[in-house]
Amino acid sequence: MKRPTILVLGAGYGGLTTVVNLQKLVTPDEANIVLVNKNDYHYESTWLHEAGAGTIDADKARYDVTSVIDKSKVKFVKASVTNIDVNEKKVETSEGEMTYDYLVIGLGFEGETFGIPGLDTHALALANLNAARQVREHIEYQFASWSLDEEKDDSKLTIVVGGAGFTGIEFLGELGNRVPELCKEFDIPQEKVRVLCVEAAPMVLPGFDEGLVDYAVTQLEKKGIEFSIGTPVVEATEEGVKIKTGEDEFDFVKAGTVVWAAGVRGNRLIETSGIESARARVRVEPDMRAPGFDDVFIVGDCAFMINEEVNRPYPPTAQIAMQQGVQIAKNIKALMNNETTAKFVPELKGSVCSLGHDDAIGDAMGRKFTGKTASALKKVIDNRALYLVGGAGLVLKKGKFKFL
Ligand code: FAD
Ligand code: NAD
Repeated sequence: MKRPTILVLGAGYGGLTTVVNLQKLVTPDEANIVLVNKNDYHYESTWLHEAGAGTIDADKARYDVTSVIDKSKVKFVKASVTNIDVNEKKVETSEGEMTYDYLVIGLGFEGETFGIPGLDTHALALANLNAARQVREHIEYQFASWSLDEEKDDSKLTIVVGGAGFTGIEFLGELGNRVPELCKEFDIPQEKVRVLCVEAAPMVLPGFDEGLVDYAVTQLEKKGIEFSIGTPVVEATEEGVKIKTGEDEFDFVKAGTVVWAAGVRGNRLIETSGIESARARVRVEPDMRAPGFDDVFIVGDCAFMINEEVNRPYPPTAQIAMQQGVQIAKNIKALMNNETTAKFVPELKGSVCSLGHDDAIGDAMGRKFTGKTASALKKVIDNRALYLVGGAGLVLKKGKFKFL
């Protein structure tokens, strides 16, 4: 009998967790497992704010895909997926066309710009590892230019961060530590530097515990970060951003760097795949399959699920992507055995938001955390994610151990 092919697209948190669990459940006699990813490495998307600010080297946030998969069980193909057609059961990639018996789509997130003019061209984003590298290098270039220029244009030293969600706040936390270092490196008086966070909603980290949010804002303001709240960005130009400050009132902030961190959508390839989606996210069946396609699973940020308890969508997080990967591996095995699949039930453990390497806020396990305790907890979470994919060896190689 022909062995089925399980094709997994994307070696992010969701795709890679699916594969490392599948390789435990399925023998090479039972199925071909093929993993396709754009790069030959996985990167920790949850560390992109650190790579973007330059508080860690980008290489620290990545490791080889083949170092965590069992090559006797999984074929890894380094290729870019260019089209998915679930009606024809075909996937086009830079390395040729592929077919499948079971497909898992885990191609991750893209920044959401909501059609705001100029953002695609004039703003940077923490969208992937090379984009984070670009953010770091762009800021360094602006700072170096200011130092070398005869006529000092101080707007080169202004960094605008659009969005005070978790990504924006974590990035600001890193900038709070990095800016003094940069000023020293490039001989810049620190009072010349401006870091401004522009948020559309009436509060920072909308929906998060207010006491923890107050703590975060106070800590970041102490590091010189400014907030403009309830003032959406409405346009970006080569010079900076236009923000709406009142009914018919606008301000323009000149800035050498604009980093857009105002939300995410799924990978655009979903939109032309033949699967119904909204903002490139698929409202999945309870067992994580795409509606109408019994052989297609969606994992991670390309999937959309409603939390019935609060009647709101689950946030797109690595925490949930990894849990989905475990369930999808089990469900594929069940289908291969002609058994019924099981419903995916997320186990929410809480959220911890870093404010640099030495500070954080957290709401987890029914308790609230701030400062060094929260920061240590964040590192434990980061190390646990490494452990779940690559075991103790990967934690030793890539883990975070500076707890105080
Ligand atoms: P990803 O992890 O993004 O992986 C997608 C993979 O697909 C990548 O390897 C990519 O290279 C590959 N790919 C993309 N397009 C193609 C293509 N065309 N062809 C081939 N391969 C392709 N969540 C938390 O739970 N906790 C946190 O602390 C946290 N911190 C975050 C910090 C930041 C700065 C950001 C931006 C996000 C954070 N998140 C956090 C959210 C989390 O990173 C995402 O929810 C998670 O990465 C989603 O996993 P995924 O597997 O869907 O996608
Ligand atoms: P988000 O959607 O959570 O936050 C985006 C923010 O941008 C919101 O506060 C929104 O009001 C604001 N915004 C939207 N339009 C705007 C505009 N025009 N001008 C100014 N502000 C605007 O997005 P995110 O922060 O990128 O997070 C994406 C996902 O990743 C979330 O699910 C988040 O929980 C997760 N994440 C988790 C962590 C963590 O657990 N530590 C860290 C980063 C991201």
